[in-house]
Amino acid sequence: MSWRDNLIKIEPYVAGEQPNKTDFIKLNANENPYPPSPKVLAAVREFNTDTLKKYPSANAVPLVNAIAKREGLNPENVFAGNGTDDVLSLAFRALFNSDKPIIFPDITYSFNTVWCDILRIPYETIPVDESFNINPADYARENGGVVIANPNAPTSIGRDLDFIREILDGNIGSVVIVDEAYVDFGGVTAVPLLKEYENLLIIRTFSKSRSLAGMRLGWAMGSPELISAIYATKDSMNSYPVDSIAQAAGIAAIEDEEYFQATLKRVITTRERLTKELRSMSFTLPDSQTNFVFAAHPDIPAHEIFGYLTEQDIYVRWFNKPRIDNHLRITVGTDEDTDKLIDALRDFVYEKRWQAREHALNSGWVTED
Ligand SMILES: *Cc1c(COP(=O)(O)O)cnc(C)c1O
Repeated sequence: MSWRDNLIKIEPYVAGEQPNKTDFIKLNANENPYPPSPKVLAAVREFNTDTLKKYPSANAVPLVNAIAKREGLNPENVFAGNGTDDVLSLAFRALFNSDKPIIFPDITYSFNTVWCDILRIPYETIPVDESFNINPADYARENGGVVIANPNAPTSIGRDLDFIREILDGNIGSVVIVDEAYVDFGGVTAVPLLKEYENLLIIRTFSKSRSLAGMRLGWAMGSPELISAIYATKDSMNSYPVDSIAQAAGIAAIEDEEYFQATLKRVITTRERLTKELRSMSFTLPDSQTNFVFAAHPDIPAHEIFGYLTEQDIYVRWFNKPRIDNHLRITVGTDEDTDKLIDALRDFVYEKRWQAREHALNSGWVTED
């Protein structure tokens, strides 16, 4: 027996690389290419640092109020934390205490399995179909809870309210978490269903659509019963999660609806252009409802494209995992970044086609025409 036997044994989540240099194009972590609202800058600049000597509002009351107002909810329906990852892990701890396994798709946000391992929550994954679609009927079975990302990641596919409703109707005995990290980029929110389903918890983040990944802010929306269970868990682990500066920045971001909508529009316009360009190079990809695309090429392995782009200082995401290891997840960047990405891909696809043709000629498979 060794103390080593008692150390935690988990497979940690691996985030997109954050290279230690400045001159590269970063399309691997679904960050927003545009800065946060100028009102966030003003809120941080004008922040009264004298107040830092005091603890922040323990339950982030002013931030929660601003979120509740924007979403048309009451403050008792909202919980705010240090990024969605913090909120999700508290929610898992607070809401998944059954002996039955919680269920989620085999292809989804890979943090789910990490939290289940670390919190010792039993889980089972349910395969998505060959087109990466989630079949809601698969979720109408006994379980200790359900987690769905809608739109899903890394597939980029968003589903409508009937889909969420079908999952909820098949799970009246379970808490259903819907992770809406990407919903602002064209997905459909389940917020209208909160009135009908007290077992529904919706999760959002400031990291993607509000350009605040570096600030660490996220929130949950649900019935007062679910939200109080999360507060109770937070109060037992870390009473003051959101710091005062982050709260001020978050309020400013939530209140600047105009900037938020304008930024979304820019990202969506670039996404549509990127999608078209990729398809013109024979890539296959679903229509994205997110700020990234999930693309595969029929002739060139994703890992080769990934390696080539990395050499060109363009970082995208490749998952060395069954079923998706021939896909690339590419974040939508600025128009300039997107142009460089498209040019690099065109060069590589062209070169590969040329090589394939040369190879075929040399081996006598085809003759010069
Ligand atoms: C990015 C992401 C999150 C985490 O966001 P943070 O608020 O930055 O922790 C949660 N869920 C999904 C599906 C994401 O892609």
